[in-house]
Amino acid sequence: MARFKPSVLEKPSSVEEALALLKKWSTSARIVAGNTTLHELSGQGGLDDVNVLIDIAGLGLSYVTEDEQTVHVGAMTTFSKIAKSKALEAGSSYALKEASEKLKPIQIRNMGTIDGSTASGIPLYDLPAVLLALDAKVISKSVEGTKTIGMDDFFLAHFVTALAPEDLLVEVQIPIKKRSGSSFVKLGRTSVDYAVVNASARVTLDDESHKVSDARIALGAVASTPIRHRLAEQRLIRAKISEDVIAEASSQPLDFDPSPSIHASSEYKRIVIPVIVRDCITAAASRAR
Ligand SMILES: Cc1cc2nc3c(=O)[nH]c(=O)nc-3n(C[C@H](O)[C@H](O)[C@H](O)COP(=O)(O)OP(=O)(O)OC[C@H]3O[C@@H](n4cnc5c(N)ncnc54)[C@H](O)[C@@H]3O)c2cc1C
Repeated sequence: MARFKPSVLEKPSSVEEALALLKKWSTSARIVAGNTTLHELSGQGGLDDVNVLIDIAGLGLSYVTEDEQTVHVGAMTTFSKIAKSKALEAGSSYALKEASEKLKPIQIRNMGTIDGSTASGIPLYDLPAVLLALDAKVISKSVEGTKTIGMDDFFLAHFVTALAPEDLLVEVQIPIKKRSGSSFVKLGRTSVDYAVVNASARVTLDDESHKVSDARIALGAVASTPIRHRLAEQRLIRAKISEDVIAEASSQPLDFDPSPSIHASSEYKRIVIPVIVRDCITAAASRAR
């Protein structure tokens, strides 16, 4: 049986050079960001077809900036840098900072990046649910041009995203919404473990009526992709936030069967999801006020 034994390490110093290398090596190559997921997969036989590694540390893609409408996060930005970012301190994208701060162990916070977390297509990671709730977009480039992919269309199946082998994720963009608050809540077996279930919410209030004008709630570790809790969202929209409304929204039935994992059955997940969603909406709504 083939074993992971790459023989070429490429270190491009510009995005253009990286795109040319991706075109040249195509499916025999993998981009290396923080190398934390790749390292895990390499020991599990998940990379035995890979012969070339393309290290993108030299592309200058580590930043968090904002303009009036959008927060821009460079692909190679680590969880630690996101957690310390001033641009995410107040406002509608706070959940990204919250999730990054909570991520443990610190070694992964310092090495793991937003592009690795997203491009891996692993639904129990924390940032996919957050980025889905925040209605983020992925900007990717290839020699053919630039693509903008909304999070609702990005995650396709376990390990499968809308990125083609020759695409380089260069930036994640998050819209800034006024009168909006967001949050992230995770249930793990221990505080350093992967999520048994995680959830992220963004709640937007109408300026005059103070009723909910928009709500996005995403769950992770419950399906082959992060998934929106549409019935809970619908119950919130046009409602005035109160404990009763939040309780009703979070106890809405799921329109999917939560996938079991080694640590939690589907039945267990059905029991804990309403509690996590309630906490998540409560925090997001209080930040929106
Ligand atoms: C001990 C441990 C604990 C962990 N705990 C958590 C946790 O609690 N919560 C959590 O969310 N995650 C956790 N993780 C997973 C961690 O989030 C991911 O490992 C990390 O985000 C991956 O980022 P990376 O930069 O290391 O990606 P890499 O391993 O470098 O890459 C991952 C994948 O993304 C692809 N890729 C990377 N960058 C790009 C790009 N720019 N364009 C296209 N494709 C790209 C790579 O080719 C590869 O397929 C844990 C991991 C470990 C090892």
